Amino acid sequence: MNDTMRNVTAAYPDTLGAAGLLTIDLGALAENYRLLSVKAAPARAAAVVKADAYGLGAEKVVPVLLAAGCRDFFVAHFSEALKLRPLISGDARLFVLNGLLPGDEETCADAGIIPVLNGMEQVARWKEEAAFRETTLPAALQFDTGMSRLGLSMDDARALAADPQGLEGIALEIIMSHLACADEQEHAANGAQLGVMQEAATLFPGVPVSFANSGGLFLTGDFKGALCRPGIALYGGNPSPDMENPMKPVVALDVAVVQTRSVPAGTAIGYGGTLVADKPMRLAVISAGYADGLPRSLSSRGAAYWNGIRLPIAGRVSMDSIILDITALPEGTLKLGDRVEIIGQHQTLEQIAADAGTISYEILTSLGARYRRVYRNALPVSA
Ligand SMILES: *Cc1c(COP(=O)(O)O)cnc(C)c1O
Repeated sequence: MNDTMRNVTAAYPDTLGAAGLLTIDLGALAENYRLLSVKAAPARAAAVVKADAYGLGAEKVVPVLLAAGCRDFFVAHFSEALKLRPLISGDARLFVLNGLLPGDEETCADAGIIPVLNGMEQVARWKEEAAFRETTLPAALQFDTGMSRLGLSMDDARALAADPQGLEGIALEIIMSHLACADEQEHAANGAQLGVMQEAATLFPGVPVSFANSGGLFLTGDFKGALCRPGIALYGGNPSPDMENPMKPVVALDVAVVQTRSVPAGTAIGYGGTLVADKPMRLAVISAGYADGLPRSLSSRGAAYWNGIRLPIAGRVSMDSIILDITALPEGTLKLGDRVEIIGQHQTLEQIAADAGTISYEILTSLGARYRRVYRNALPVSA
């Protein structure tokens, strides 16, 4: 093919046809892990890599965290653990927060994955597996300290601790619980849950405690235990919305303009005609919508940025596109193929989440499959 015959210069030659560019800074991820490790000390910092490392790609994220010194990884589903197991070996541990479904015990034990036992039935099944193998199997034991989600009730915990055969064949790696209100510094539930966890710790003396998530790491009080479990803070989310975000941003998102137009006053804009131009307006359509993780709740609420200038979302967010009000820009500024910022220097992940009426967790884990993902500051490839 003769390239000289074409007068095309792609600003991003490597996009594989994608209109959205999702940049993931693995250097910032490693930096965030180091920051959280310092914060956690003398406890250790694990990494929660569930939901494909909060949507960023667990297969890229895990090696970076291993290189940064992380040795404990948590996923939510057993299927995720099976997928990541080949990456996490040697002296590193891999825990399954949601525990095991009946029938998964054999595969779990074979793979050397550590289940979080959340109830007596799971304890019994894991003991059976250990007895069958005539060996001891590792496990984490979770208590419900006040969230009513996963974990043994305190009654079950007391009964289990009182039974000399209660944990026969099980080597408890950690005991753990999860905070319901860790993102609210002053919430009374934090202290109440801590009190219950401290009682649980006296029932299983000598077993390392794991309690704090990202938010818990920044609470005042004795929340750290021996092993903290940050997730969102690793990926640049603010662990504690009441303070300035101490984490480095990891994610940037830029989306291409696929059409611009000018409309006279009175023109209906987008599905349902929910917005009608009250003056002559200029519009740009960008090639990402709710199927790409930009929630429909951003309709006429959120914005994109161009060189620091706010470009409000005009009308409803569509499945594959969003209309922006670019009247603030001189005519001709934005052209076909130019990219506007959704997450980046001028708009944080937290801001877009707030505009959408949700949290950074939901935005990250919804990031669509249609973006071109670019991993920056990746580890040097070893020979
Ligand atoms: C998701 C999760 C975490 C991580 O929480 P972040 O708020 O993202 O730090 C820790 N522990 C448990 C049990 C979880 O489910």
